[in-house]
Amino acid sequence: MTPIKNLQVKPNFITQYKEGFPLLNGEFILDINMIKTEGTIVNIVDSKKKFIAKGYFGKQNKGLGWVLSYKENEKFDKEFFKDKIQTALAKREAFFSSSDTTAFRVLNGTGDDIGGLTIDYYDGFYCITWYSLGIYTFRDAIIEALKESTDYKGIYQKKRFADNGQYVEDKDFVCGEIAPEPLIVKENGVNFAIYLDDGPMVGVFLDQKDVRKTIRDIYAKGKTVLNTFSYTGVFSVYAALGGAKKTTSVDLANRSLPKTQEQFTVNNIDPNTQEIIVQDVFEYFKYAVRKNFKFDIVIADPPSFARSKKVTFSVSKDYTKLLEQLIAITNKNGMIIASTNYANLSIVRFKEFIDKAFKRMKCSYKIEEIYTLPKDFAVSDKFYEDDYLKVVFIRKFS
Ligand code: SAH
Repeated sequence: MTPIKNLQVKPNFITQYKEGFPLLNGEFILDINMIKTEGTIVNIVDSKKKFIAKGYFGKQNKGLGWVLSYKENEKFDKEFFKDKIQTALAKREAFFSSSDTTAFRVLNGTGDDIGGLTIDYYDGFYCITWYSLGIYTFRDAIIEALKESTDYKGIYQKKRFADNGQYVEDKDFVCGEIAPEPLIVKENGVNFAIYLDDGPMVGVFLDQKDVRKTIRDIYAKGKTVLNTFSYTGVFSVYAALGGAKKTTSVDLANRSLPKTQEQFTVNNIDPNTQEIIVQDVFEYFKYAVRKNFKFDIVIADPPSFARSKKVTFSVSKDYTKLLEQLIAITNKNGMIIASTNYANLSIVRFKEFIDKAFKRMKCSYKIEEIYTLPKDFAVSDKFYEDDYLKVVFIRKFS
């Protein structure tokens, strides 16, 4: 057991920590950079050494660890984590009792008072993601707490603490039964093929569930839909189930073709009736303009940073240009659904990008809907930085 370190908060930031700011930040806390051992327990104190909060040291892209408690004698043991996990599970009662949705997040980092940790649920299987070696040092207590709090079929884990928060290649199975491959789960009645032990991602991003449902239920009927950066194509699957005339999915990754075909197949849609293209979207845009292709609905959900052979894309520098390309291939009165998960881009800036792009293209528009994270991705009102998702539905008038 490593000894507890007392660390002093700089005077200007004391109120912030007292009011519940959870991130251990090197600019706010003296000497935190001196700590070397991941998982070291730290007491945050004021200049008179008075206790403010308790947390753990764990290097992550966001900072150097998280506050977990405001009790000086708190122990970060199984009982502590059990209490957090059970509170988080109780908040998702409506999800657990739904037969339409069997995949959702059950514990969302700071939104459920454990920064650096998430837990997802896939029809009886749980998948824990560790975002630092620091939180991983508590794994025995956390896994035991999860086991005692749930009727799990099996538990898997993703270690996201290689350099820059990358995934550590490893077997992801922890205990219980081994999940089928694929494991079929449901979201809003739609089937997803999930692979719990096949690299960093399982096949779908659970944070878009409300956006997908809206596309299916409100917008897709009779429309042509282009889904760019389509990954396993689940936006297209929802659109097709909503009665889209045709879907076109475009992604650079070779794997996206069989993966997208599979997501259609598990929903009883013949993938041959849909278009699935493996190509750099920026090449596809040129081709579509040349051929004068236009779509009624165009979806773009790019990664925050991406480098392909020819193009480097970053949300903060290049989203306006991307929007211009989307506008060029959207029909009059069509809809652009522009998404970003880049936490450092505010909705205000994102709207500025949208405005600039439409002005440059000399088109008028109206924002019809804006989506942020769904309910299961709980966000703390003390840490809005974790409220990363922004999805804007934009009607193009002319
Ligand atoms: N919209 C998807 C998730 C997108 S993840 C969903 O809802 O499931 C980002 C995807 O962008 C990855 O699959 C990656 O292969 C793809 N990608 C990154 N750069 C690309 C590019 N230049 N052209 C096409 N696809 C790209």
